[in-house]
Amino acid sequence: MGLVVQKYGGSSVADAEGIKRVAKRIVEAKKNGHQVVVVVSAMGDTTDELIDLAEQVSPMPSGREFDMLLTAGERISMALLAMAIKNLGHSAQSFTGSQAGVITDSVHNKARIIDVTPGRIRTALDEGNIAIVAGFQGVSQDKKDITTLGRGGSDTTAVALAAALDAEVCEIYTDVDGVFTADPRVVKKARKIDWIAFEDMLELAASGSKVLLHRCVEYARRYDIPIHVRSSFSGHEGTWVSSERLVHQTQQQGEKPVEQAIISGVAHDTSEAKVTVVGVPDKPGEAAAIFRTISDAEINIDMIVQNVSAAATGLTDISFTLPKAEGRKAIDALEKNRAGIGFDSLRYDDQIGKISLVGAGMKTNPGVTADFFKALADAGVNIELISTSEIRISVVTRADDVNEAVRAVHTAFGLDSDSDEAVVYGGTGR
Ligand code: ASP
Ligand code: MG
Repeated sequence: MGLVVQKYGGSSVADAEGIKRVAKRIVEAKKNGHQVVVVVSAMGDTTDELIDLAEQVSPMPSGREFDMLLTAGERISMALLAMAIKNLGHSAQSFTGSQAGVITDSVHNKARIIDVTPGRIRTALDEGNIAIVAGFQGVSQDKKDITTLGRGGSDTTAVALAAALDAEVCEIYTDVDGVFTADPRVVKKARKIDWIAFEDMLELAASGSKVLLHRCVEYARRYDIPIHVRSSFSGHEGTWVSSERLVHQTQQQGEKPVEQAIISGVAHDTSEAKVTVVGVPDKPGEAAAIFRTISDAEINIDMIVQNVSAAATGLTDISFTLPKAEGRKAIDALEKNRAGIGFDSLRYDDQIGKISLVGAGMKTNPGVTADFFKALADAGVNIELISTSEIRISVVTRADDVNEAVRAVHTAFGLDSDSDEAVVYGGTGR
């Protein structure tokens, strides 16, 4: 029996009862002969509450102090969890990210892990302890300041530790039974996926699926660490995310191997906005000037569409999408460079939503795009932008249409399950 890393999200440890329930699960794994490292998030909505509190004190808190504040949430849950485990007669030690050897760059609020040196965790395990690590945090290599990895970063902590400790598996415990073919909060008939390849999971995460963070899947793929996403509220087998499907990953011995599905799932995202630059001269260098301005403002964009120019004017429009939170910054930056770039006006629209169909089988199934558009048309949904990758098609629609569109596409591709198995055990999805 090898080493397992288990990560428990905020909704799994929302209160004292939750902490005790999780402690029992952890002890079970230990009794089964595993060395167990646990990564834990802050209890319930603690992180949101701490953010609200900071905003009441200061409109623009310093990054360093903000990180110091937020990491307190995970310190509370790690200590309580260690206490609960000891109460069950097993030895446990809790560690901050810094103590666990999570070394990051010094970009506060969204630091990147650059090294993991888990010496103290190894020692704790060798001495027979269960090691509990505070998720979502580290220490900067140069200044030795406390950093956080960005919202939802505990998943990344877990995978990074799993890689550094050469774990057998990284188990991510959450409030649903695994990765579903669509968000079970929107599609009641969403189906649990038994196994999904890293590639498809990366596209789902990039397209708005919240069950796993993109950065965490990227990390797992780089170090080839299998992830098992499952619920801490049920005993069900969850979803395996790995490069190749292995026999123990839900498939019973002797069963016919299941082929990779053509479509893995439907993801949606309502966190983006659309900017349209109106009246751009149709000549070389214009797109370069617009997107240089945007990247200088350190804004990541998603889709881009340029229209044909009107013959009479030689002017065209360029639209792109970006996180709503960056909207103001983008408009200000473009406005400031209006003379240099040369355009008539800007339009900003934050009432949009994105729906994406993801599946490796798309590469070899030519009808997928047409079927996707047909399903949207039948549901009366108008398409505003389209973008594709080898294994994904995404469209932008009105935000109000998104839920309906996701359900229509899910049904059209035969993804609906016969039973309502998609249970959401807890959490607000926030
Ligand atoms: N507590 C942090 C958050 O809510 C980190 C995490 O949950 O992964 O974003
Ligand atoms: Mg959380």
